[in-house]
Amino acid sequence: MLRESLLYERLPRGYLRCLICQRRCSIAPGKRGWCLTRENRRGRLVSLIYGEVSSLSMNPIEKKPVFHFLPGSVWLSVGSVGCNFRCPGCQNWQIAHYKGGPMGTTYVGPGELLQMALREGAQGISWTFNEPTLWFQYTLEGARLAKEQGLFTNYVTNGFISPEALRMLSPWLDVFRVDIKGFFEETYRKIAHTRAAQGVRSSTELARNLGVHVECVTNIVPGVNDSVEELRAIARWIKDALGVQTPWHISRFYPHCEWSHLEPTPVETLEQAWHLGREAGLWYVYLGNVPGHKWENTYCHSCGGLLIRRYVFQVLQNRIRNGRCSHCGSPVPGRWQ
Ligand code: SF4
Repeated sequence: MLRESLLYERLPRGYLRCLICQRRCSIAPGKRGWCLTRENRRGRLVSLIYGEVSSLSMNPIEKKPVFHFLPGSVWLSVGSVGCNFRCPGCQNWQIAHYKGGPMGTTYVGPGELLQMALREGAQGISWTFNEPTLWFQYTLEGARLAKEQGLFTNYVTNGFISPEALRMLSPWLDVFRVDIKGFFEETYRKIAHTRAAQGVRSSTELARNLGVHVECVTNIVPGVNDSVEELRAIARWIKDALGVQTPWHISRFYPHCEWSHLEPTPVETLEQAWHLGREAGLWYVYLGNVPGHKWENTYCHSCGGLLIRRYVFQVLQNRIRNGRCSHCGSPVPGRWQ
């Protein structure tokens, strides 16, 4: 389904500039942008992936991972193809590393998607699996419909969305679950093949300032973004720019794609990062992809009491009562009902 894109401008000699993400591609007549999902057709920028669904499933919100927004709720997860990064260790590379050929997708209109979510009893819709910014218009229309029906909305994103697009989306967006892949531009150059560190941080700060619930994830890859200097810098930035209450998920890398030769992240490295996060002053630091680890749980930032006991994506016990710790009564930041 071809749709004229939102957010683009005309340039001299028939070129068009896409303003959806921070690459801001200048696209020649008949050509596509960097992500290969937008094409300059006779002077109009069209999206080639509007409603083109590659993946669809019902998941607990913990799987995204999001831990401080309706724990235990089940959301409809949906994705298309393509990405504006090319991470060598991408776990969804089969759909994210789109090369411009056949997509293997099924068309699902935004109304149909919403009906599906309601029928399945979802409490929200997560745009995930590939970078949601790429089918921005579809997610915007879907988010509006979802909010009209009382559902929540979540972007699982690399954060390279443009500020224009994020401002347009934010009135209908509840959660911005963003990857902070590193702190230094050199790390983003290795992981995403672009200088994006500052841009990702800016859009994350903007999401927070626009009132969207933010949770950050850093997938630690051995030898790429596992230095103390880098992890400490991420933790300090989260504290200073987003606030001590912002959850930071540190997840274990498993070999994929071009990084199949690397080893999984040692658990000691993840635990060291956890300590760096806590030393920086963050209240909620979590380990991911280490099933059964005690730091999958939520502990009260004030008294240290166990609040939510988890096993992988499952909530086993929730001791938050009316948004407060049931041990000491301190408010727990997040959305609990
Ligand atoms: S979405 Fe980003 S990568 Fe794709 S065409 Fe637009 S600016 Fe380029």
